[in-house]
Amino acid sequence: MGWQHDINIDKNPRKVHCKYCQKIMSGGIFHFKHHLACTRKDFESCQQVLENVKQMILGVLVKNLEVTEKKKAHQYSEKDDDDD
Ligand SMILES: [Zn+2]
Repeated sequence: MGWQHDINIDKNPRKVHCKYCQKIMSGGIFHFKHHLACTRKDFESCQQVLENVKQMILGVLVKNLEVTEKKKAHQYSEKDDDDD
């Protein structure tokens, strides 16, 4: 998670300053990750982010998604067992 050192986070953690395009986002780190990864998932893409940074954050997002999906799948299977 070394990329976090490159990011200036305001005292208010909901406001993140993008050092690449100088925009300040009020949606927090989640919004910011999508901004840098240019997922365009309801968030504005960063026009200035470096390609390697973008790829790194995309990798983090994909990993997080996989973990979330696995957790969900695990929870659902447990629930099914309980209901049975
Ligand atoms: Zn940006």
